[in-house]
Amino acid sequence: MYAVAEVLDESCVAHKGCRLCIMYCPEANTIMFDPEKKVAVVNEYSCKGCELCVVVCNAAKHQAIKMASR
Ligand code: SF4
Ligand code: SF4
Repeated sequence: MYAVAEVLDESCVAHKGCRLCIMYCPEANTIMFDPEKKVAVVNEYSCKGCELCVVVCNAAKHQAIKMASR
């Protein structure tokens, strides 16, 4: 079992211009802006489970990412 990041769509404020998780994720093209849903979305196949996105999202008080087991 391993952990991947998962965005809680209802809490994500990417529609207001937030891109923190996208900027800080060290893996290329892993957490990206979904232009249709207007939220951040994780490619769980390339997510390494480092939790950096959770740290920056929580630091900005959005709490929109949780880690999920796969
Ligand atoms: S840092 Fe949080 S609120 Fe901002 S785009 Fe990422 S998931 Fe959404
Ligand atoms: S857990 Fe790490 S690798 Fe996965 S989306 Fe977040 S910052 Fe990127």
